[in-house]
Order: sequence, then C-alpha cells, then structure tokens
Amino acid sequence: MRAVVFEQWKTFPSLTSIPKPTPGPGEVLLKVAGAGACHSDVAVFHDYDESMGMTQLAPSYVLGHENSGWVEELGEGVTGLEIGAAYLVYGPIGCGHCAACSRGQDTYCANAATNPSLASGLGRDGGMAEYLVVPARNLVPLGDADPIAAAPLSDAGLTPYHAIKNSLKNLQGGGKSALVIGLGGLGQIAVQILTAITGATVIATDMKPEAMERAAANGAVTVAGGPDQVAQIRELTGGNGVDAVFDFVGIAPTVRTAMASVARQGRVTIVGIAGGKYEWDFYSTPYEAELTNTYWGTIEELYEVVALYRAGKITPDVELFGMDDALEAYRKLEAGELSGRAVVVP
Ligand code: NAD
Ligand code: ZN
Repeated sequence: MRAVVFEQWKTFPSLTSIPKPTPGPGEVLLKVAGAGACHSDVAVFHDYDESMGMTQLAPSYVLGHENSGWVEELGEGVTGLEIGAAYLVYGPIGCGHCAACSRGQDTYCANAATNPSLASGLGRDGGMAEYLVVPARNLVPLGDADPIAAAPLSDAGLTPYHAIKNSLKNLQGGGKSALVIGLGGLGQIAVQILTAITGATVIATDMKPEAMERAAANGAVTVAGGPDQVAQIRELTGGNGVDAVFDFVGIAPTVRTAMASVARQGRVTIVGIAGGKYEWDFYSTPYEAELTNTYWGTIEELYEVVALYRAGKITPDVELFGMDDALEAYRKLEAGELSGRAVVVP
C-alpha cells in the first residue's frame, strides 16, 4: 500500500510503498477514511533530531496522527466492533493500565518513558496510508457522520477542546471574553468550540486576513496584528482584559501578546509548540493571572468533541488531497498556504 513515511530526522517525508499491516492481539485494522496534516508533524520532520532526546519519535514510520476510518479486520481477542463501521481514532497510546490511561488520558501515561511510541503517527505507523492498525480501545464511534471531515477532530478538535475545558471556570458568568491567537487548523476549531459551549465574546487574530475572515464567519470579533493590537483587544473587553487566552502559535511575540491581553484572574494557555520564551514579572502580571501549557486531550473529551460534530455545532474546514498529492499537503502546511485543515484521503 502507499504511505507517507517519515524516514530520517530533518528530512521531508516520502511517498513510498510498504506492506499492508495486520492487526495484532487487541488491535483493529482500519481502511483509512481521512488523515489530517498537523503542524506538529512539521516540527517532527523539520526541527527535531536525536540530540533532543525524542527517542520515541525516531523515524521511520508512517505520519498522520489525526485519523478516521472503517473497520476492515479485527485482531485476536477483539469483539463487538462491526466490520465497515466508521470510527475516529484517539491518537495517544499509553501503557493502557496506569491511573492516567485508565481514565482515558494516555497523554500523561505514568509509563510514558518506557512506551515504544507516543501515538499513532508519532513513533508508530499513522494514518497517511491506505490502512492503519490501532488498539481497539482507541476507537470513538462516528455513527453516520462524515468520517473524512471528522479526521481533524482527533487533534485539531480535541487539543483546543481540552484547553478550553480547563479554562471554563474563567469563561463562566456574564461579560466574559476569550482570545484565540493563530487561526489555522486548531485555532479555527477553537473559535467554533468557544462559540458552541461558552457565552464568551470570542476575539481572534492571525497574520492572514483570510484566516480572520473565516473566524469572523464563525462568530469571532477579529483584531489585526500591529502596535495597537493589545489596546484594541483591551477595549473590546471594556478595559478589563481577556478572561481566557489561547495561543496556537507559541513564539515569544505571541506569548507576550497573550500575557499583555489577559485579565486579572484570567488564564493564558500556550498550545503552539514553538517554544517562545517569556520573562515573568510580578509587577506587570495582572493579579492571579495564570500561564500554562497543554498537551492533546482525553478519549472521553474526544467523545464530547464527536457529539458536538454530530450535532452540527463544530465543522472542520477541510482541504482534501488524494494520495498522489499527500506530500503537497505538508508542503502547503509548512509554507502557510493552506485554507482549511489538509486531510489526505487515500
Ligand atoms: P497551522 O499551521 O494550521 O496554523 C497556524 C496559524 O498561525 C496560521 O494560520 C498562521 O497564519 C498563524 N500564525 C503564525 N504566526 C503568527 C503570528 N505571529 N501571529 C498570529 N498568527 C500567526 O498550525 P496548527 O496545525 O493549527 O498548529 C498550531 C500549533 O499548535 C503548532 O505549533 C502545533 O505544533 C501545535 N499543536 C500543539 C498541540 C498540543 O497538544 N499542545 C497539539 C497539536 C498542535
Ligand atoms: Zn499508562
């Protein structure tokens, strides 16, 4: 079968032919419906190497950690799944039996250091291929919902959803506001989730005017970058600042904008993995404003994301690519030329 393979550190992936996999005990073979291209993959093949201690991400394997598909074959011991039924894949794969994995939070597996990989498509074969093998416990049923547009939900939907849920205490009550910085794959769905599950005013910003137009169409008030950006954001909040900020870029300037915009007792969540540094200071930080990072989400939250999708409350904007053009999806993602989440449909 054809697959997009990450073959070497600091090397753009290749489109090659590999054997069709077979499911082991407790696993399921899926015929892939869609595989989203996440900006984290660009970090994996472009920025990381062995010197960074990322041994679980070492090549080679098939990329794609936002996957959906139809059950094709059941491995030994797997029962209760119908051949041909559509599922979304929960990407993180922990040990499966520690306290974190038992509550569906494989991202914070207690045995992460000795697990062979992090997730489907992150250290073991992912979904940018015709077929994908995943543990049966990682499947979330899609019912009759479109599995192709659903694929990005497993990361571009779940990661913002988890961050927003952790900030809900800041968004409850009247007159609350949220700020979304970076309106790509994750940021656009963040705007939709905030609109769907909170009453907050959603403020959004990106360097690209078309990304801001899309966010505005989903209910956000947009503010362009520039020297008076923070002043404009503060004005939109009646001078108070923003109750919950989500930074989907994570470079030093966006972290500074996030911290300059936050309200007293507000919360800033850095989602983008660019590693921007920020010098925290007692006197310039609004009282009790929190600054945190985040990583993906739980399988239980993915069920909630799927429920919002099935109810028509969130709809990923997708740009589809056939297998022949799969590498073009990553090229466009890296170049910032996408309009909507790139999904490879093999
Ligand atoms: P993307 O490429 O689809 O979107 C990034 C967006 O940010 C683009 O619209 C771009 O125009 C905008 N942008 C870039 N620089 C900007 C700036 N200075 N100011 C305003 N906007 C700017 O990326 P994505 O797939 O949505 O991922 C976003 C980030 O989240 C990446 O760093 C990715 O690695 C990270 N991520 C983190 C997690 C996690 O668990 N923490 C999970 C998935 C992705
Ligand atoms: Zn575990």
